[in-house]
Amino acid sequence: MTSAPSIGVERRRIVLRGAVQGVGFRPTVYRLATDLRLAGWVQNSTGGLELEVEGSPENLDRFLCKLKAERRRAAVVLSEEVSQIEAAGFASFQILPSKGDEPKTTSVPPDLAPCQDCLRELEDPSNRRFAYPFTNCTNCGPRYTVLLDIPYDRSKTTMRDFILCAECQREFDSSQDRRFHAQPMACPVCGPRLWTEPEECEGRSAIERAARGLARGKIVALKGVGGFQLLVDARDRSAVLRLRQRKRREEKPFAVLMSSLEMVHQYCNVNACEEEMLCSPAAPIVLLKPKQPSDLAAEVAKSSPYLGVMLPASPLHHLLTMAYPHPVVATSGNLSDEPIAIENGEAQERLKDVADILVLHDRPIARACDDSVTRACLGQPQVLRRARGYAPLPVVTPRDLRAVLAVGGHFKNTVAIAIGRKVFLSQHIGDLDTVEARHSLENAIEDLCRLNQFKPELVTCDAHPDYASTCWAIASGLPITQVQHHHAHVAGCAAENGIQGNYLGVAWDGTGWGLDGTIWGGEFFREHNGQLERIAHLRTFRLPGGEEAIRRCWRPAAGLLWEISGADELEQIPGCGVVVPMLDKGINAPLTSSVGRLFDAVAYFNGVGFANHFEGQAAMCLEHAIGDLKTEESYKIETRNGVGDWAPLIQELLADRDKSLGAARIAAKFHNALANWIVTVAQMADVRDVVLSGGVFQNAYLTERTSALLGEHGFRAFTHHQVPANDGGISLGQAVLAG
Ligand code: ZN
Ligand code: ZN
Ligand code: FE
Repeated sequence: MTSAPSIGVERRRIVLRGAVQGVGFRPTVYRLATDLRLAGWVQNSTGGLELEVEGSPENLDRFLCKLKAERRRAAVVLSEEVSQIEAAGFASFQILPSKGDEPKTTSVPPDLAPCQDCLRELEDPSNRRFAYPFTNCTNCGPRYTVLLDIPYDRSKTTMRDFILCAECQREFDSSQDRRFHAQPMACPVCGPRLWTEPEECEGRSAIERAARGLARGKIVALKGVGGFQLLVDARDRSAVLRLRQRKRREEKPFAVLMSSLEMVHQYCNVNACEEEMLCSPAAPIVLLKPKQPSDLAAEVAKSSPYLGVMLPASPLHHLLTMAYPHPVVATSGNLSDEPIAIENGEAQERLKDVADILVLHDRPIARACDDSVTRACLGQPQVLRRARGYAPLPVVTPRDLRAVLAVGGHFKNTVAIAIGRKVFLSQHIGDLDTVEARHSLENAIEDLCRLNQFKPELVTCDAHPDYASTCWAIASGLPITQVQHHHAHVAGCAAENGIQGNYLGVAWDGTGWGLDGTIWGGEFFREHNGQLERIAHLRTFRLPGGEEAIRRCWRPAAGLLWEISGADELEQIPGCGVVVPMLDKGINAPLTSSVGRLFDAVAYFNGVGFANHFEGQAAMCLEHAIGDLKTEESYKIETRNGVGDWAPLIQELLADRDKSLGAARIAAKFHNALANWIVTVAQMADVRDVVLSGGVFQNAYLTERTSALLGEHGFRAFTHHQVPANDGGISLGQAVLAG
C-alpha cells in the first residue's frame, strides 16, 4: 500500500524496547498517528515495539512529543531509538500482526491495578460492565499472571477460551476505543464468572456473600490476581487469631487491604512517596507507621512496628471493599511456608480446613505471583518483596552480560536471566525448605527461560553447598560458576545503581557462606578491576546451637559475652547452661561475622527483642525502640587490621543498661555506632561510591543515617530500590558477577 511519496514528507522509524507489549501501546500509537494524519505502521516485535510514521516534519515532531508523554504515563519503556529514513509513500496507518519468529527479548509486562476509567465504569449502574469483577482495558488489568507465551496476544493468555461477544469485538477492533486490542478484555456476557462455595452464589451476590461472611468473622479465601488470598475482618480479634491458628502462622505480620486512601490515612501516617506507591499501577503492600489508638486487632501485626497496607489491586478487590468498607486482613492463601495456591481445585483441597468461604472464578492464573511489599526509604520507593506488579520487569545493568541463568539463594529466593544489559528477575519464590517450594523454583526457571526463548550458556549459584538452588545448579549439568553470597549482594546493588566499578561494598545480613569457612554477614569489599577484596569485617563470635541461634536472641548474646570474658559473665543470661560446653569446645557453635546476629544480641541485651519467628524480627524491634529520638551519641567500634571490634560497644552498652539509660537511647547509640563504622572504613578504602546491601539495610534508620553521614563526608551512598536488599536480590548480583 505505498505510492510515490509527496514532497516535504518525511519518515521516521522508532524502536521502543522494554515492557511495551500489553500496556496499550499499539492502540495508543495508532490513535496518536491517525489524529495527526500520519501514515505508517506499528508492530509488536520480539524486541519490543517497532513503528514507522510518515508525514509532515511538524506533525512528526508533535507525534514524538506526544509519544514521549504516553511513555512517561506507562512508565515501563526502557529505551527509544528514533531514526530518519527515506519516505515510502504509505497510504494509511496500520497495526501489523505480531512478529513471533525472532529471538524473544521483549520484557513481559507486569499486572496493573484498574485505571480510573475502568473504576468509573465499575461504579456506573448504566454501564454494561457495572460491578463486573474482570473488567480491564489497554491501560490496566492482568498481564504476567494471564500470560502463557509471547508475543502478547489473547490467544496466548489464559483468556484464550473466552470468545469475545459482538459488542466486545467491536470495542477490540475500534481504534477510538479504550479497549482497542486490549488482550484480556471481557464483559459479563462473554468473560469469566465469579461464584462462592459452599452455598453457590454468583456474580454480585457472590461478593455480597463474601462481605456477609467477613462481617460474621468468617475466613474467606479469594482468588486474587496472582493467587489465593485469605481474608478476615482486621478488627475482629477472634477471627484474626483463628486465621493465625489455621494457617499455622503465629507471629509474622499480616497485610491489610483498605478500600481507599482516606481509610489508609485514618489508620496510618502516610507521606507523599508512600501515597504514590499505594496508588501506583503495581498496587503493592506498603509498610506504614500505624496510628494509635486503633480499632485493628493487635494480633494483625503485633510483632512489627509497621503495618503493611494495600489498596485494591483488581476490580474484584474494589467490589469487595465497596461491599465491605472496613480494613480486611489479606494474606497469601497457603499454610505457613508453602507456596501460594492458584488453581480452584488446589484451593478446594489445600484451603478447605483454613477458609470458611471460597470465592472462585474461571479465569486461570498462569503463574503464582504474591503481593509485592515496598516501603519508603530516603524518600524513595524500596522493594522488599518483588512479585505482582513488578515481576518480570528487567533491571538494566551498566554492561553487556553473557547468557547467564542465576538461581539465587535459599531464602526469599528469586531467579534471574541475563540478556544483553538486562537482567530479568522472576517473582518472589520464597524459602526453599519444602518440596513444593523447590518445585516452584524449577517452574520459575523453566517459565523465565521459555518466555524469553533463553538458552543459558552458564548457570550461577551461591557458594553454599546445601542451598536447594545450589543443588539444582549442580544437577543441571550446565557449566557452573559459584558466587559468594555477599559478593552477590554488593554487585547487585552496584549494578542496579549503574555503578561501573571502584566502590566500597558493604554487605551486612544474617548469614551467608563465607570464603574462609566461617559464616559471613558483616563484610566490606573494595571493588577494583572487577575483583572484590574483603578489606574489613566484624570481629567473629560463636553462634551456640547453629540454626537455633538464629531463632533465639540470647544465644548470639551468650556468644558475645563468652568471647569477652569466657563463661564467667554468662550467668547474666538465665538458662544458658546448655551452651557453655558448645562454646568451650567450639562444637556446634560456628564462628560468624554477622551484623544481623549482632543486632539480635543487642535487641536481647536492650530488652526489646528475644526471638526471630521471621527474618529480622528482633532487629525490627530494636530499630522501633529508637522511636522519634534524635541523638548524635554513639558507641564505638574499633577497627584494627580490618577487624571491627564490637567488645567496647557491648561493654559500654551493658553499663548503660545497668544505669537504666533507656531502650531508645541504647538502640540509637548502637545504630549510630554502625553508621560511624561504615564512614571510618570508607575513609580507609579510598573510594567515592559506597553501596549498602544485605538484609540489614532494610533498617530505615540505619540506611538513612549512614547515607546522610557518608554524604557529609564527601561519599556517594547507594542502596537498593528496584530489587530487595535481602536475599531476593541475590540472583541479580550472581547474574552480574558471572556474566
Ligand atoms: Zn482500565
Ligand atoms: Zn463481551
Ligand atoms: Fe544475604
